[in-house]
Amino acid sequence: MDGFVRVPVREQDAKVRATNFEEVCLGYNKEEAEKEALRCLNCKNPQCVQGCPVSIDIPAFISQVKTGDVEGAYQTISKSSALPAVCGRVCPQESQCEGKCIRGIKGDAVSIGKLERYVADTARELGIKPEGAKEKKGKKVAVIGSGPSGLTCAGDLAKMGYDVTIFEALHEAGGVLVYGIPEFRLPKTAVVKKEIENVKSLGVKLETDVVIGKSVTIDELMEKEGFEAVFIGSGAGLPRFMNIPGEQAMGVFSANEFLTRSNLMKAFDENSRTPIMRPKKCVVVGGGNVAMDAARTALRLGAEVHVVYRRGEEELPARKEEVGHAKEEGIIFDLLTNPVEIHADENGWVTGITCIRMELGEPDESGRRSPVEVPGSEFDIECDAVIMSLGTSPNPLISSTTEGLEINRRKCIVAQEENGQTSKPGVFAGGDAVTGAATVILAMGAGKAAAKGIDEYLSSKQ
Ligand SMILES: Cc1cc2nc3c(=O)[nH]c(=O)nc-3n(C[C@H](O)[C@H](O)[C@H](O)COP(=O)(O)OP(=O)(O)OC[C@H]3O[C@@H](n4cnc5c(N)ncnc54)[C@H](O)[C@@H]3O)c2cc1C
Repeated sequence: MDGFVRVPVREQDAKVRATNFEEVCLGYNKEEAEKEALRCLNCKNPQCVQGCPVSIDIPAFISQVKTGDVEGAYQTISKSSALPAVCGRVCPQESQCEGKCIRGIKGDAVSIGKLERYVADTARELGIKPEGAKEKKGKKVAVIGSGPSGLTCAGDLAKMGYDVTIFEALHEAGGVLVYGIPEFRLPKTAVVKKEIENVKSLGVKLETDVVIGKSVTIDELMEKEGFEAVFIGSGAGLPRFMNIPGEQAMGVFSANEFLTRSNLMKAFDENSRTPIMRPKKCVVVGGGNVAMDAARTALRLGAEVHVVYRRGEEELPARKEEVGHAKEEGIIFDLLTNPVEIHADENGWVTGITCIRMELGEPDESGRRSPVEVPGSEFDIECDAVIMSLGTSPNPLISSTTEGLEINRRKCIVAQEENGQTSKPGVFAGGDAVTGAATVILAMGAGKAAAKGIDEYLSSKQ
């Protein structure tokens, strides 16, 4: 069976990691990476590249890993991706590059994500940086938001020679990479900050604590500050709630707030000034990556955690790897279950939640079978905290303060897929602000397409 099975990756033991915030996956070392790289068949027509939204030349970088040329492999990846150490950790590779790998037909797909992570981590340890622009164009472009879409767009424009400034509302750059995805999946100082430094090393300027739409508007940036084009990568950070009775009780959080306190404000650290509730028994509502992150964070803060999701195991939208990790760590899954009411004590603090069992009915517009309530199946779960993880939508601040910017009924900015062009000339957009909550790599793909679109727009203006 040699060659059919991937080289396993080392992980922290489930019992140990359930009590700490250190990274779960330990990645490949040189020997493991070179052995796994040998499994790549170097296909003439590589399907994996088609499965990658930023079209990394995967066979080329894996060939370089085979020969021990990490610097070459890093530069190959950097031509297409500004955030390889991030993507190697959080991309849903199983449904993208690895999902298309020929090896996957009769065995395990090549572990492309773990190899990408190995290259990026080793390059960082060796101090290797991406290659910048040879000539400057003397044109200013503003990028709003420093998440994956903004960082990618900014990095690509800087490589083309544009003078790029990122404006970020928060005091730290990185978007969801710093405030959403927890430290145990994506280390902030060791990984995210270093990749942001790499983007800055291309000449990109970064201004934090600037809220576009409040501190300054897009129209002012273009009319008074000399920016000839703007990219909006402001994400989708506005949480949704269920509107069920009791949702206003103390101890009910949005996953965004709970995770931001823990990740960005380091509330899990006893020395942090930001408070966080350390629940004894916590119910997380939802089944996506965000729900898994909130559940695993609550577990590490000492809680018994139940994930309540209205569809079944097959329909869980979170990555399979994350669901597996959550189960290993002891998270309890109450599937085909939906909350109907949250209960509180006389002081307003959560004491429990009433749920109802569901069964799957006919497929809805999305093709997924709709969950329907089973009459009379209500039951209670005692808990002292409820974390709502039901999705997010874009904050309307930018669209409501920008003249002529079209949005759709979901409050997302309308932009062309191929180049990010919005209804306003010179203004481009991409990532979650356009699609609604999606993935890191799709946001990066949109940032890339918009950088190309901005270059074409500014070149045609000459
Ligand atoms: C908890 C969590 C876990 C996730 N896990 C995964 C995963 O495992 N894999 C995966 O692929 N995806 C995951 N995702 C989704 C992924 O992180 C997002 O799809 C991606 O970050 C979107 O990138 P973006 O650049 O569009 O926006 P964001 O990352 O949201 O960045 C937007 C940035 O814009 C800033 N901003 C907003 N408004 C303004 C303004 N008015 N002025 C200035 N700046 C502004 C914000 O502060 C933020 O920094 C997860 C999301 C969450 C919340």
